[in-house]
Amino acid sequence: MTEKLYYRDSFLGSFTGTVLSCEQGKGGWEVILDRTAFYPEGGGQPADHGALGGVAVLDVHEKGGEIVHLCDGPLEAGAEVSGEIDWARRFDFMQQHSGEHIVSGIICAAHHCDNVGFHIGHDLVTIDFNAELTTEDVREIERRANAYIWEDHPISIAWPSPAELEALEYRSKKALTGEVRIVTWPGTDCCACCGTHVRSSGQVGLVKLISCQKFREGVRIEMAAGGRALQWCNTVAGQNTQVSQLLSAKPGATAAAVERLQGELYALRGRVAELEEKDFARTAEEHAGAGDVLLIQGPMSAESLRKLCGAVQERCGGRCAVFAGADGAYQYAVGHPGGDLRGLAKAMNAALNGRGGGKPAFIQGSVKAQEAEIRIFFAEAR
Ligand SMILES: [Zn+2]
Repeated sequence: MTEKLYYRDSFLGSFTGTVLSCEQGKGGWEVILDRTAFYPEGGGQPADHGALGGVAVLDVHEKGGEIVHLCDGPLEAGAEVSGEIDWARRFDFMQQHSGEHIVSGIICAAHHCDNVGFHIGHDLVTIDFNAELTTEDVREIERRANAYIWEDHPISIAWPSPAELEALEYRSKKALTGEVRIVTWPGTDCCACCGTHVRSSGQVGLVKLISCQKFREGVRIEMAAGGRALQWCNTVAGQNTQVSQLLSAKPGATAAAVERLQGELYALRGRVAELEEKDFARTAEEHAGAGDVLLIQGPMSAESLRKLCGAVQERCGGRCAVFAGADGAYQYAVGHPGGDLRGLAKAMNAALNGRGGGKPAFIQGSVKAQEAEIRIFFAEAR
């Protein structure tokens, strides 16, 4: 069994160990040492990365009591090597993991539920509970978790005897056998855990509960602790600053400004639709009885394009083709009441580098063609 130095000192960032074996495996060399500070993936906490005797450690996992380091180069069996943990990565995981325990302890006690899932993702941490939580619940949990963090309680980690364990109330995701490691945040949480943690709650810094959504028979909470919480605040504050500058609104009043803008947009859309309707009716009148019609217009919405085509085809007494856009990229709608446009669609898509189709009497799509090419095609299309 590899001696697990990370259990003796979770803040050990460098160490020396002896290479017991090194074998080429899938994706790298699998190195086993007599002792290691590299934490293997487990209990929701990802594996450490870093360097070992001059080669990179890409992944670490536990296999039958031994810690296997997946390295990008070989190490000589029997050699003493020094290991260096990617400390920024590890400390981030410890902040997330300890933050998660504090939040879970508070939720499980207050809402009589279980933590049924925990994942440290690339940006955020997710925790799942078999309970319903309201927005107010979440704010209260966040307030209490941060108060506990700022009180800076020291952590306590123990390997109780089976008898001691029997008498202990602790959280656990599964029935445990053999030695059980109990991680306690005094007054807040007591949980069976194999992960690494900060020394005192103050080192978590801050927890931010970002969202709480219905998930399976309970909820999924997205959270960020420590440096990640700061990163998240910076990202969101940066976005809000941009919105505030774009809308000339105070940073604390951007939502009201967006709402006002939406109202204006809605009113403008209504006005545009009204004007378009009049304009399309006028165009339809101009082409009354004209037979086949081809209209090439500036850009307009797909809905407007359909409306214009519909208005003209009713009056022209033939086939109406409308193209909207600019040279190189046009949207089209073609209508012919009682006609069959399937052959035309095929020929047009082939000739004008287009795509689209529809019903016999109405087709729509797009072409990558110039106005002149469209005019030539329709001059020849009969
Ligand atoms: Zn844990």
